[in-house]
Amino acid sequence: LNRRLAEFGTTIFAEMSALAVRTGAINLGQGFPDTDGPEEVREAAVRALRDGRGNQYPPGPGVPELRTAVAGHQRRHYGLSYDPDREVLITAGATEAIAAALLALVEPGDEVIALEPYYDSYAAAIALAGGTRVPVTLRPGEGRFVLDLDELRAAVTPRTRLLLLNTPHNPTGTVLTREELTAIAELAVERNLLVVTDEVYEHLVFTDDATPAHLPLASFPGMRERTVTIGSAGKTFSFTGWKVGWVTSTPDLVTAVRSAKQYLTFVASGPFQYAVAEALALPDAYFTDLREDLRAKRDLLAAGLTAAGFDVYRPAGTYFITTDIRSLGESRSHGGDGFAFCRALPERAGVVAVPNAVFYDHRQEGAPFVRFAFCKRTEVLADAVERLKSL
Ligand code: PMP
Ligand code: GLN
Repeated sequence: LNRRLAEFGTTIFAEMSALAVRTGAINLGQGFPDTDGPEEVREAAVRALRDGRGNQYPPGPGVPELRTAVAGHQRRHYGLSYDPDREVLITAGATEAIAAALLALVEPGDEVIALEPYYDSYAAAIALAGGTRVPVTLRPGEGRFVLDLDELRAAVTPRTRLLLLNTPHNPTGTVLTREELTAIAELAVERNLLVVTDEVYEHLVFTDDATPAHLPLASFPGMRERTVTIGSAGKTFSFTGWKVGWVTSTPDLVTAVRSAKQYLTFVASGPFQYAVAEALALPDAYFTDLREDLRAKRDLLAAGLTAAGFDVYRPAGTYFITTDIRSLGESRSHGGDGFAFCRALPERAGVVAVPNAVFYDHRQEGAPFVRFAFCKRTEVLADAVERLKSL
């Protein structure tokens, strides 16, 4: 393994899902739904396969039907216009979009600012691009993980090339507010930064008085021309195995990302691209139902975790709950060590979770936090809650 990748072993998701299989525990570790997306979208994939659409290499930028549907989605939900031919790129999931964006835009030695805790592929993709990651830590405060805007400003140096943002945020469930996004946009304009924004959980925002529907960073003043926005059918339609993602940005930035993408996979997921094009056109009720279903699951798991003694950070978005295990007490929380806690949890309670420390450079900051996924059937969550009572 070369030096760029030396610090990266097996991802925590593979490790924890293997642990779940080995122990027969309920897997609330890796974030994937245990029910597939809509029947009619699966049917659309079958039709594409049967009718020979996408069984051979699709066009490099993605099939026109899907690029048009992505542009239509950005217009319908956010009022943002993108030219399907020049400003949309289809990728092998958001993961490839992130990697290709960083490989295309970062010079060796450039600094990339990322919110910490960060989704694990960010660190590896920055490293592959030869960049230096500069984490800005979200810290608990007022029931959520909060971005310190002064710290973000102070992290920008003359070597900063881009800001890698994620909202709604995995693993904390934080949804950046309009005020926070405004400040980030002002900073990006002032310091002339590019922003790659991972918005794969855009439809998993539990709107209420304090939380409006998803606000894409590209919709803020001065941002459209400097923002690469990333979405994924894995999250929005519960097809994580299909690996269909997309990028929307300016023609120049999309061309740059495509330059890297064409030598990673060239293309992917032919027939599924046609199916996702149909999915993106589903009526508003689909998106509302997805959100409301997950809101109920969030509330079920949050209540169960609280009853079991965890300190719960109630997420405003995503399908993850971050907890602080220290409230369980010294011995039950393994001294507040999330790693030790998660390694023992399958044996102790028959449940798998993920230690947030793996998403930190400052491991100590993340040590007591543990993430549970709630994108599971209600009876599975109820069973997990029951098991956690015996902790
Ligand atoms: N970004 C974030 C924040 C994620 O949580 C995930 C999925 N776990 C991805 C990107 C990857 O998405 P995809 O499966 O479409 O590659
Ligand atoms: N995005 C999912 C999560 O955060 C898992 C992705 C993966 O397994 N690489 O759990």
